[in-house]
Parts: sequence; C-alpha cells; structure tokens
Amino acid sequence: MSIPNAFKQLKIFATGGLDKLVLDSSSSLGELGPRSINVQVSYAGINFIDTYFRSGLYPVSLPFNLGQEGAGKVVAIGSQVTRFKPGQSVAFYSSGSLSEYTQIDESKAVALDKANVSEFDAATVLLQGLTAWTFLREAHPVQKGDKILVHAAAGGVGLILVQLAKYLGATVIGTVSTPEKAQLAKGNGADHVILYTKEDVKERVLEITNGEGVIANFDGVGKDTFDLAFQVAARRGTIISFGNASGAVPPFSILQLTPKNLKLLRPTVMNYIATAEELDKYSSELFDLIAKGVLKIHRHGVYNFDIDSLRQAQADITSRGTTGKLVVKVSD
Ligand code: NDP
Repeated sequence: MSIPNAFKQLKIFATGGLDKLVLDSSSSLGELGPRSINVQVSYAGINFIDTYFRSGLYPVSLPFNLGQEGAGKVVAIGSQVTRFKPGQSVAFYSSGSLSEYTQIDESKAVALDKANVSEFDAATVLLQGLTAWTFLREAHPVQKGDKILVHAAAGGVGLILVQLAKYLGATVIGTVSTPEKAQLAKGNGADHVILYTKEDVKERVLEITNGEGVIANFDGVGKDTFDLAFQVAARRGTIISFGNASGAVPPFSILQLTPKNLKLLRPTVMNYIATAEELDKYSSELFDLIAKGVLKIHRHGVYNFDIDSLRQAQADITSRGTTGKLVVKVSD
C-alpha cells in the first residue's frame, strides 16, 4: 500500500490555547528507518499529556506532532524489522498518533492479531491501561488487603486503576467530583468513594482506614492534592504522584517524608515499557485482563478527525466533565 505524498496531522507550531491546534494537511513521512514501521492510523487516544504539550507545561521542540498512542495497519516495514509484517494490525505509543499516517520505532508497537483485540479497543486502552497496570505492579506492587487511594477515580487512568487494584485484592478508596462519577467508580469496584466537592477527604480517609491512612496514593491530580497525600498516608506508605490535571506540583521539602518514612515516586509509564520485551509483557497481561472480563473498557466519546472535534476533545478532557477514555476515529 502506498502512502499519499501529503496527509492530515494534528500539530502545534506554538504553545498556548486551543487555537494553537492545527490540522496540517501537508504532512509527509520521512525515509523509513531500518527498525521503523509506517502505520495507517485508524484510531488514536486522547490523553491529558496532549494538553500539557499544547499549553507548554511539558516543553517540546516545535513544530510538534500531537497524539501519544493509536492503532492501525502496518503499511511498510524497515529493512531490519522482525516483529511485524505489512497488513498487520498494531497498537503503539509514540508521538504523532493524531495523524493519518505515522512512523514509529518497532519497539513501541504491539501486534493485535495474536491478542485478539480490536484496533478500536486497543487505541482506547493502551496507554492508560499500561499506566495503571505498571504502576500497580511496580510503583507500588499492590498486595491483597492494601488500603489505597485513587484520585479522579472515574477518569481514564483512574477507572482502570480502580478495577485492577480491586482485582489485586486492595481496598480501594476513590475521590471524584460528582455523584454520577461516584456511582461509576463504585460500579467498577471502588469500596469507598469520597465526593471531594462535598466531603473532607482527609477526614473520610482516616475514618475509613481507622486512623491508619493509605499504604499507597495514586494521584494524577497533582497540585491540588499533593499536600493532602502526606496527611492521609500510612506509616511506610507510598505516594505515586503521576500527573498534573490541576497543575504541576510545586517544589517541596524532602523532610516531609520523614515523619512517616514515606516513599514518593513521580513515575512515567514510558520507563516501565521502554523495551519491546517490557511492552510485550505488560500489554499482553493487560489484554488478557480484558479478555478475562477483569478490565472493562469505558469510552467517554469518539471524536472525528477534524479540527473542531479535536479542539473539543482537548476542551472536554480538561473540563472535569469526562469519564473513561476519549478516542478519535482517524481513518477507516
Ligand atoms: P482523566 O480522565 O482522569 O481526567 C482528569 C480528571 O482529573 C478529571 O476528570 C477530574 O476528575 C480530575 N481533576 C481534578 N482537578 C482537576 C482540574 N483542576 N482540572 C481538570 N481535571 C481535574 O485524565 P487521564 O486519565 O488522561 O489522566 C489522568 C492523569 O494521569 C493526568 O494527570 C495525566 O497527565 C496522568 N497520566 C500520567 C501518566 C504517566 O506516565 N505519568 C500516563 C497517563 C496519564 P474529577 O472531576 O473526578 O475530579
């Protein structure tokens, strides 16, 4: 299959508001590297990180191709590629997935045919699913009986964390902003849900844990919830601060860790799936959990690949109004 000389790709040429998103229709792919594959993208996931690149919170060199994950068909392989064939369905994580075609290193892709997962489902779950699963296995390996806290428990990563932590035997406490989100988090396994817009989170966590606090705190909210993490942590607990939905966490004093011998991590999923072996291992575990019915996929909405819809998707994910995952249908 040949790739057109020019195709559509979501880019930023400058950082700022939603108006900085540009659907450039003159994009092309560079020469195919020996270990690279060209993919025609069918679906791409929307992630909070796209908004950090656009706003400038995470600095990147410009112009920058947006979108961090997707799924589609391999259209060409480099001379040394061994893991994929043209025509094969793959899911991948790599910058530039919000594009009709993209070129990625083969180590960032997984085959979908063996796993029996559709491109639609894979683009919906790959990055958020791997984030939740690797954090539960490595950032704080959850043990049966652990009392843990998950912020934004009805969000993309949050709803997956809730389901998988429950599966691992944890007692899961979630925080959410609305009663509808509370219901969704409960329906997906949260044992306790705190409506932080009405309840005092510290008081409720200490009440639920009999004053002990939580052994792990999975926090993608960032700035607004960071101080609270120290107040609700159990002795020897772990704080996993992994995002900035409310803004970046400001510098803090390391001495804050001392009173309870706390551990603090600021992980990125990318470091847990940096090699093809790690990506294959964790994604096959994730796909198995879906096949077994342990993990249910929740889609907030499917957006079209036009500039208004793409701007709307970024506005929606930052609005606190979404639950589960936002996906873009890029091409048929
Ligand atoms: P979500 O679907 O969880 O959306 C963010 C949620 O955060 C909102 O729905 C909202 O839930 C809550 N929130 C609290 N305060 C704010 C605020 N001021 N503005 C907006 N939202 C707020 O997004 P994702 O699942 O895509 O991402 C969740 C977090 O995980 C992000 O911070 C993201 O950057 C991070 N992440 C980190 C990764 C890593 O490797 N470190 C990988 C993937 C994601 P509620 O209304 O219930 O409060």
